[in-house]
Amino acid sequence: MNLKNKPIRSCIVCRVRSEQNIMLRLQCNDKTLSIFSGKGRSFYLCSKCCEDNKKSVKSIYRQCKNKAEYEEQLKEMIEIWKTK
Ligand SMILES: [Zn+2]
Repeated sequence: MNLKNKPIRSCIVCRVRSEQNIMLRLQCNDKTLSIFSGKGRSFYLCSKCCEDNKKSVKSIYRQCKNKAEYEEQLKEMIEIWKTK
């Protein structure tokens, strides 16, 4: 296994750069957040920002270019992600 070639992504909230596989990858469609399905635009949240929903949700508004009940949705996504 080549450790040097692990994909690195940056968190939309704090901009920290981390390995793709330890970050939460989400997408936003019609004011609904979901775990990235493999199609379309996506963005990443680091595990630290997953613990600070209030701060993270503002970055999500920016990513989605609209405002919706993302704080609640984010909580659900984090639960799904953690139990994966
Ligand atoms: Zn972060």
